[in-house]
Amino acid sequence: MLTKEQQRELADLCGPNVAFDVSMARFCTLRAGGRATALAGVQDLQQLSALLDYCRLESLPWRCIGRGANILVREEGFAGILIRLRGEFTAITAEASAGIVIAGGGCLLAELLAHCRHAGLSGLEFLAGIPGSVGGAVGMNAGAFGHCLTESLQRLTVVIDDGSVRTMTQGEWTGDYRSFTVDGLDMEKTVIAQAEFRLVWSTPEQVGARAKEFLKLRRTKQPSSMPSAGSFFKNPVGDFAGRLIEDAGLKGERIGGAMVSPEHANFIVNAGDATATDIVRLMRLVQGKVRSTTGIFLEPEVHII
Ligand SMILES: Cc1cc2nc3c(=O)[nH]c(=O)nc-3n(C[C@H](O)[C@H](O)[C@H](O)COP(=O)(O)OP(=O)(O)OC[C@H]3O[C@@H](n4cnc5c(N)ncnc54)[C@H](O)[C@@H]3O)c2cc1C
Repeated sequence: MLTKEQQRELADLCGPNVAFDVSMARFCTLRAGGRATALAGVQDLQQLSALLDYCRLESLPWRCIGRGANILVREEGFAGILIRLRGEFTAITAEASAGIVIAGGGCLLAELLAHCRHAGLSGLEFLAGIPGSVGGAVGMNAGAFGHCLTESLQRLTVVIDDGSVRTMTQGEWTGDYRSFTVDGLDMEKTVIAQAEFRLVWSTPEQVGARAKEFLKLRRTKQPSSMPSAGSFFKNPVGDFAGRLIEDAGLKGERIGGAMVSPEHANFIVNAGDATATDIVRLMRLVQGKVRSTTGIFLEPEVHII
């Protein structure tokens, strides 16, 4: 759907970091998914602003993605530009004496955590073992073991769809269970470019030990051998999606290459050559069966784009 001229203009804007007609399976932890018209890596705020401005002027759909740990691109593909944050968006700085860590939206969570450990700053250890980027994790309000990212988030730099940059502080956003909202902003049309966290002084040894404990706990609960996007459904209030799916007798249920994990019923795994259609059909089967046995609708946590 891009003209030759648009392809040339995108290549001018993003340099060698743009590719066309890209299979997204390689960029998603489910190792499945349709194609994107274009996948563009942006290096800095100026390039990102220019790209969003261009997309607006040309009416091109776009979406920012992180490390693909919680998305599935539909079989028919994403008819637009998927944007990944590279270059200066992967920088992390710590002001240890002030208890602050500032991370670009494109940083890996593992690198953020390593930085915190090195600086002896505590508060993000629950992230141990969660794949993904800082931008994706803020946008999902990622969490585990009773903690979530917005607990320590204190400042955010975002770029909105006209290309303008905005800084926000605590009180301007709402972080709920796997949800992050800002009044007046459509988060699907907002790029989380940088996040600042206020943490608690500790020691590298203590931060490392706490992270190790969380990782150990995670390994006892989560299947690790097959590609997945983590928990597929949000837990309904007062219950667990995994319990409901298991009680519906769906552990091990398969459609094509997609399977409800026999180890953890809230994981849909790619058991071999699953397509996005297999995964979406299995998701619907699970939703249908759980609804008919319990009356509860399971809302996907995974973003299907
Ligand atoms: C094995 C496994 C275990 C997991 N365990 C957990 C867990 O315990 N807790 C948990 O919360 N999650 C968990 N997840 C899910 C996932 O790791 C998190 O949701 C993570 O935060 C997703 O980050 P990402 O960068 O991969 O985002 P993506 O999956 O690429 O994107 C997720 C959403 O965020 C948007 N987005 C991404 N980057 C940006 C940005 N810079 N600006 C604006 N929007 C953006 C995307 O458009 C999409 O809507 C797990 C996943 C796996 C595979």
